[in-house]
This record gives sequence, structure tokens and C-alpha cells, in this order.
Amino acid sequence: EALRELLLGRIVDVPDYPKPGVVFKDITPLLADPEAFTALTEAFAALCERHRVDKIVGLEARGFILAAPVAVRAGIGFVPVRKAGKLPGATLRQAYDLEYGTAEIEIHAEALGRGERVLVIDDVLATGGTAEASLQLIRRAGAEVAGVAVLMELGFLDGRARLADALGGAPLDAL
Ligand code: IMP
Repeated sequence: EALRELLLGRIVDVPDYPKPGVVFKDITPLLADPEAFTALTEAFAALCERHRVDKIVGLEARGFILAAPVAVRAGIGFVPVRKAGKLPGATLRQAYDLEYGTAEIEIHAEALGRGERVLVIDDVLATGGTAEASLQLIRRAGAEVAGVAVLMELGFLDGRARLADALGGAPLDAL
């Protein structure tokens, strides 16, 4: 459809970045185009309404850029999930596996209300490890998972399958 064409036309494939053999999806041209960025923001905001979202979690760092205007547009709060060691208050921390080694992300322990319906927003779903860990944080914080919404899903990496348990039936939308 038209939205998909508009968005795809503003995403650039960068071969061999950040390492040989990887094709990086660069969204900076989309961010620089007000028509595309606005259309993306509106589409995410519509999902917030459809899934009755109470709060938006954005994943560092490109998730912050996409999620913040959605929160403003939808009139709901924004909560950052950051790489470990960046948040000043008391946090919950979740480790997850990378291709080589592990990584850790954090959320402020008091950022989400009990039973609040939370939507996770990020740019790219690749292996699903980051999104899965964020859903675990949301549940540990006592909130409810309303879904995961991404600009783009790299289907060949099967992130959707990895996320299935953590989603627990909640929707994964790739715009
Ligand atoms: P995952 O945990 O393997 O799903 O990786 C997802 C995270 O890596 C997201 O936060 C993305 O921002 C980032 N990422 C992975 N591949 C790409 C890409 O091709 N372009 C931009 N970000 C990417």
C-alpha cells in the first residue's frame, strides 16, 4: 500500500555495515523527510488507539526517535529502555543473548503502573533479542504487554518466532 511504499523508499540499504556481510537498514533519510516521518508517526499512533495503549516504551537509541513523537501524538507517556548503566534511578535489569556474548538493558523500576498496557516501539526487529528482553522488563515491572510495533521486521532472522512466548498473544506490528 501507499504507506509501505513511502517508508520503503526512504530506507537505505548499507552493505557491510557495521561489519562485513551485514546489510544495515539506514532510516536517517526517512527521519529527514517530514512527509514520511509524519506518516510513520500517525501509523504508530493509530496502533496505540487500536491496542488501547496506556504507555509507550522506546528502545535505545533509534526507538527513542520514533517513539517520542508517537507518545506526543497519542497523548500518552513515554518511557525509555536504555542500555545498562544510563538510567539514574532504581532500575530493573535484563540480560539477553547476542550473536557473540550478552547485553543488558534497563528500565526505571517505578516507570510503569501496575496493569498498564504498554507498547514497545523500535525501528528494526532483527533477531528479536532486544524486544524480547524489553517485554520481560515490562512484565517484571508489573505492567501488561499491549504489543510490539516496529518500522521494519527482518523476516529472515525469525525475530517473530523468538518473540512469541514473551508476547503471550499480544500483537507484533511491522509497518
Ligand atoms: P535484535 O535484538 O537482534 O532484534 O536487534 C534489534 C536492535 O538492533 C534494534 O534496536 C535495532 O535498532 C538494531 N538493528 C539491528 N539491525 C539493524 C539495521 O539493519 N538497521 C538499524 N538497526 C538495526
